[in-house]
Amino acid sequence: MKLKDFFSPERLQSGTRGLSFELFPPKNEELLPNLMNTVEELQRFSPDFFTCTYGAGGSTRDRTLGVLGALKTQHNLRIASHLTCVGSTVEQLRSYLDEATAIGVDYIVALRGDPPKGETEFKQTEGGLRYANDLVSMLRREYPGLGILVAGYPEVHQEAPSAEVDLENLKRKVDSGADAIVTQLFYNNEDFYRFRDRCEAIGIKIPVIPGILPVISLPSIQRIASMCKAALPQDFVDALSQSDQVDWQFQVGTDFAANQVADLLKSGIPGIHFYVLNSSKATSKVLDAVGW
Ligand SMILES: Cc1cc2nc3c(=O)[nH]c(=O)nc-3n(C[C@H](O)[C@H](O)[C@H](O)COP(=O)(O)OP(=O)(O)OC[C@H]3O[C@@H](n4cnc5c(N)ncnc54)[C@H](O)[C@@H]3O)c2cc1C
Repeated sequence: MKLKDFFSPERLQSGTRGLSFELFPPKNEELLPNLMNTVEELQRFSPDFFTCTYGAGGSTRDRTLGVLGALKTQHNLRIASHLTCVGSTVEQLRSYLDEATAIGVDYIVALRGDPPKGETEFKQTEGGLRYANDLVSMLRREYPGLGILVAGYPEVHQEAPSAEVDLENLKRKVDSGADAIVTQLFYNNEDFYRFRDRCEAIGIKIPVIPGILPVISLPSIQRIASMCKAALPQDFVDALSQSDQVDWQFQVGTDFAANQVADLLKSGIPGIHFYVLNSSKATSKVLDAVGW
């Protein structure tokens, strides 16, 4: 099935929306069976595909392929590999893509990637690519069978000089051949709605899919949100702060996510992407709460 079809107006009209779950490669192979248990638990929501992240500078290259291979061989799922330009020549990107297609990867989440740890600026590798739109163009040219997702930023990418410039850069990825946009995590739906309107106004016609990370603990979300430059509403932080008990924070965080998702569904989103962080508990609770 083509990526676009998961998010088509016809599918939405018939009451079905796209659903994807994002995993990351576990630290070692011994943890892979645990991850496959999580995958099995999430199957009851009939996801359209799973994605697996790609560590900075290719640090998880083989483990990412390992997870994707297991998803294909053990569960026969549709799979998307994240791929970044950081630290790779075009030749190395091709070699990864050849391996990925050989194990049956269906889609690529095409990214530039963050600067390596300790560096503040992204530096193009000699013989490599500069921006995600370059990767999208290469994929379209050389791997036309792969569906392509790209990243979008409702709160503006942290390096962009303005929201307008960031949007023009997003449009480059779309014009280069992306099939759908998945957003960075966010906790204020108004940011998403404004972003979606601005995408439409600039002529972006591909689906814009919200990326949702249910909060399970205040310290961990404060760390993640500061890395991604995602704002946490003060009343949400206040509610989470009322107790440092793990159960309390899980309850408050997943209730918030359930309300957030319910509101997004009402607004007519064609699909949703969950950052599941390799655990089914929070995402399952949210999807059950909204009656998925
Ligand atoms: C859904 C999602 C999944 C992710 N998965 C991973 C992952 O697996 N591994 C990982 O390391 N990181 C991942 N990231 C993080 C991502 O790599 C970073 O946010 C990174 O800083 C930007 O990547 P990008 O693909 O959005 O870059 P780009 O689209 O290239 O944008 C980067 C910056 O450059 C600007 N820009 C873009 N194109 C141009 C151009 N042609 N000319 C001038 N300026 C331009 C943009 O405005 C932006 O400020 C993910 C992010 C999201 C939202």
